[in-house]
Amino acid sequence: MKGNSLSLVSPFARRGRGVAGRPSVFGLRLASLFIVATLALAQAFYGCATNPVTGKSEFSVISEKDEIALGAQAYNGAIAEIGGEYNDPVLSAYVNDVGQSLAKVSHRPNLPYEFTVVGSSVMNAFALPGGKIVITTGLLSKFDDEAEVAGVLGHEIGHVTARHAARMISRSYLFQIPLIVGSMYAQGKGKGEELVALSSVGLALLQLKYSRAQESQADGLGMQYEAKAGYNPKGMVEVLEVLQSAHEKEPSALEGMLMTHPLTSSRISDAKTMLAKDYPSWQSREDMLFADRFKSKTERLMTHVGAFEHYDAAEGHYQKGELDQALQEYRAAIEIDGAQPQFHCGVGEVYIKKDDTPNAMKSFERAKELDPELFRGRLDLGYAQFLAERYEPAAGELEAAVAIVPTSPSAQYFLGRSYEKLGRSAEAIESYENAAALAPDTEIGKDAGQRAAALKAAG
Ligand SMILES: [Zn+2]
Repeated sequence: MKGNSLSLVSPFARRGRGVAGRPSVFGLRLASLFIVATLALAQAFYGCATNPVTGKSEFSVISEKDEIALGAQAYNGAIAEIGGEYNDPVLSAYVNDVGQSLAKVSHRPNLPYEFTVVGSSVMNAFALPGGKIVITTGLLSKFDDEAEVAGVLGHEIGHVTARHAARMISRSYLFQIPLIVGSMYAQGKGKGEELVALSSVGLALLQLKYSRAQESQADGLGMQYEAKAGYNPKGMVEVLEVLQSAHEKEPSALEGMLMTHPLTSSRISDAKTMLAKDYPSWQSREDMLFADRFKSKTERLMTHVGAFEHYDAAEGHYQKGELDQALQEYRAAIEIDGAQPQFHCGVGEVYIKKDDTPNAMKSFERAKELDPELFRGRLDLGYAQFLAERYEPAAGELEAAVAIVPTSPSAQYFLGRSYEKLGRSAEAIESYENAAALAPDTEIGKDAGQRAAALKAAG
């Protein structure tokens, strides 16, 4: 393959609308590849467990230890998928504190809970098994008080404590969990089929659709945790009302959230009934909502959140190939809020398309300064270094990208290309094989497969 066909496999060539309109970082292969494992084997691994919420015994194919490992493995990919961490340390610490105060009084207080704010106009919140919980700026900016933040985080904690995702995932991906968890314990990073398994489970975790009964149970648990932690459980009902009104006004901003957490009129009336029945003294009270604290901690967000409108417009222009308009909108976003690394990534990606690698590199370096853990920034910078034929730094950046999200075919592929240029054939083959396994039907995957074969034949 000649240099000029690179555009076919550029990391920016396939920006499908992901869960929140971001490029998908997961491989595309969803089909279960691991039918070889037998049910008997899986049962030997796992057995029955007691549900922490109901106290009832239920068949469980996933232990708590594995649940934690699975969630941790999928976490970075999930954050990258919906936009990357929002850069506002005050807000991040605040949301984490609210979450931890609820987690402490929950049915599973000893899980390694972590609450992350992601920068995205899309209203969303979700939980991964084991206690990793994400909420977007789009959702936070719609709230008026802390009891609402606690309501949504309490709801997500409820999904974790009642093991909703873990149960659904164990049913559908029975054969893949031992692979993922096994590889994690064995070496901390997966290879080939383990990465494919992780990728498909990660994608499934983001697309889980909870049942109506699970939603109401999570609402009930959320209220319970709110009341125990000293919040007015009315916050939960308010959250549902915020969601309902947003759904009427701007349904597209809520798509992702409603896909995983269906919002039915009966869910809202169920929550109101629970509030009246289980917390009668709270219903008419207006205290313990903590509106002032919420206001002071979200001040920066509220005055800067408009930047995401420009950012969304920029991404739309970029997708349509309208580079100048895209650049203008990315810059407008940066003018409002220069601290968000993904805005700088956007500018750099436009420069890449305009064949201006030096300027692209500047923007990607800025993104890296702002958040060295942002997958997109490291992938972008590695790709730009590769284009500039600086293979040593390219490999360094792409190694960092792969360490953050090992399931990205683009990162694996360009890491392989960099290693190949550096004469590190064995490592190149490994990266190519990972890329080929993760995205076998794409341009990247096919080219990676051919390059791996050629290197093997030459060696
Ligand atoms: Zn839910």
